[in-house]
Amino acid sequence: MEEAARLSGIEQSRRACAGTGCAICITCEEPIPVARRAAVPHAQRCTGCQQHHEGVGRGR
Ligand SMILES: [Zn+2]
Repeated sequence: MEEAARLSGIEQSRRACAGTGCAICITCEEPIPVARRAAVPHAQRCTGCQQHHEGVGRGR
């Protein structure tokens, strides 16, 4: 029964991922820090990739 509970926890984590964005950066596929996900719940990129993404077009 403990294993069932553990699997249930994994299921909840997957559902949370689907609802709030993913724990994995869509650009570099690195794990997104929990602190960043807490600050930006719908973030799909890690801090570095998001800055690069937002910085595109600013020149140099
Ligand atoms: Zn990234």
